[in-house]
Amino acid sequence: MINFVGAGPGAADLITVRGKNLIEQADVIIYSGSLVNEEILNYADKENCEIYNSASMTLEETAEIMLKAESDKKNIVRLHTGDPCVYGAIKEQMDILDEYGVKYEVCPGVSSFCAAAATLKAEYTQPEISQSVIITRLEGKTPVPPKEDITLFAAHNSTMVIFLSAGMLDELSKRLIKGGYKEDTPAAIVYKASWREEKVIRTTVKNLFKSAAENGIKNTALITVGNFLGGSKTRSKLYDPSFSHSFREGV
Ligand code: SAH
Repeated sequence: MINFVGAGPGAADLITVRGKNLIEQADVIIYSGSLVNEEILNYADKENCEIYNSASMTLEETAEIMLKAESDKKNIVRLHTGDPCVYGAIKEQMDILDEYGVKYEVCPGVSSFCAAAATLKAEYTQPEISQSVIITRLEGKTPVPPKEDITLFAAHNSTMVIFLSAGMLDELSKRLIKGGYKEDTPAAIVYKASWREEKVIRTTVKNLFKSAAENGIKNTALITVGNFLGGSKTRSKLYDPSFSHSFREGV
């Protein structure tokens, strides 16, 4: 059986119980070495568990290991950082397994964008501030469809979480401002959320590049943008005394 497993954002105890169980039972683990915390590999419990770091491998090479292990009836874990559903490159692997008629499951993980909110002690969807979270990135080697240009998303002024772009913050600021955020809109750079090396830099949309440079941050960071970081105090209807719903009568 092949299981794609979300390893969580970094801290070894932020993997799910199911993910940990799957690692304990694995005969073969292929992990994304660039971002998965290697402490998680210590959960592997089978004596001859084979462990591969995919950082230096191609899609074909990882697929070959999975297919061979599957034909040997081994338990295989393909370990991805955060949750595999965002920027996880799992679809292309599932496509290959589908071609070979090989079954697999996906075990979710805590994405870094959730860990970043926890670090910031913030709520992305604060009432009256923003009720949407745009998860996006600037184009790198992977292109971004033109209709998803960050300048267009910026027009919404909603909460935005930007992955994979910490090395391009000058360009990011320009596009966010061009698209419609005010220069002084609060922003935060969260480096290695939940790792021991975690750093948080609170800044503004205008000063993203400067703030990152001052703190030596070039990668493995999320950029969060929006007035949810602004400190306004608002209340939800759900817990308002006057509001009735199926579990409570309002007064
Ligand atoms: N699937 C992962 C994202 C993989 S893409 C997830 O759900 O989190 C890799 C990018 O994710 C990094 O460039 C960085 O922008 C972000 N990232 C991953 N882990 C992070 C962490 N612990 N703290 C901050 N950003 C992180």
